Amino acid sequence: MKKKIVVALGGNALGDSALEQKELLKEASKPLAQLIKKGHELVFVHGNGPQVGMINIAFNGQMPLAECTAMSQGYIGFHLQNALHNSLKKSEVKRNVATVISQVEVNKTDFAFKNLSKPIGAFHDTKPKDNFEYIEDSGRGYRRVVASPKPLDILELENIKSLIKDGNVVIACGGGGIPVIKKDNTYETVDAVIDKDYASSLLADKLDADVLMILTEVDQVAINFGKENQEWLETMTVKEAKEYLDMNHFGKGSMEPKVRSAIEFVEKNPKREAIITSLKNADIVMETKNKTVIIN
Ligand code: ADP
Ligand code: MG
Repeated sequence: MKKKIVVALGGNALGDSALEQKELLKEASKPLAQLIKKGHELVFVHGNGPQVGMINIAFNGQMPLAECTAMSQGYIGFHLQNALHNSLKKSEVKRNVATVISQVEVNKTDFAFKNLSKPIGAFHDTKPKDNFEYIEDSGRGYRRVVASPKPLDILELENIKSLIKDGNVVIACGGGGIPVIKKDNTYETVDAVIDKDYASSLLADKLDADVLMILTEVDQVAINFGKENQEWLETMTVKEAKEYLDMNHFGKGSMEPKVRSAIEFVEKNPKREAIITSLKNADIVMETKNKTVIIN
């Protein structure tokens, strides 16, 4: 059966440099092009956690985070666009690829502006001594943490829809989208980084997709993650996922937003499913067992 799939590519699975990112996306685009060749309709969202931190540091912390996300949409979008273009051409699929610079509306009263939760940039063994706030990120080290409000609306949604309708493969809402708030009928940027998991779930809902496929660094979602009794999950119902969330099984700012996004997407329509697996599984993701599927 041909499916509409929103594919969310994790920023943490894109390597440590622009060159590594280019190579990783070149590889990942091959199986994704095959899914398109099979007739599935794919729409792409990418993350930018490590990259947005790197860009901000490159400007000595002076470039606002919204602009840093805009820049990340440009260069990550370009790498993905170029890789998909080449893989589609090689597979003799006649489709154009387009990246849409996307603004995403958030609420200025979102609690996230007071409670910073989104880890960005590099991992550090000890807390750096500067003016930024840091948290420990899923046993991987300390990372700078920023506000991550929930996405409410995608300003370029109609452009995205028309591009899809005209047969383009679309990349949108990169890095969760450039965060903006409404002020007297105009939009202004805010200092935050939206989690691409929530933005991809919102986009998948607005496009009424069948599948939300979140490609990250791990093959599966675990309960008791990193502990002796860790257990990888093949499937999770919405009800089970909510129970595990209450029991704090998922890393804040890492796996938790993925599971919450999956729940939000799936519970609106029982025919939908969400898949969480690793970027390297992209080729076999529709068949393999090496993934976690979230269903109603
Ligand atoms: P991405 O850039 O793909 O969004 P994140 O680092 O934000 O990646 O989230 C994926 C990471 O979440 C995994 O690599 C893993 O280290 C961490 N994680 C936290 N809790 C869990 C869990 N319960 N099961 C699996 N991975 C988890
Ligand atoms: Mg993440």
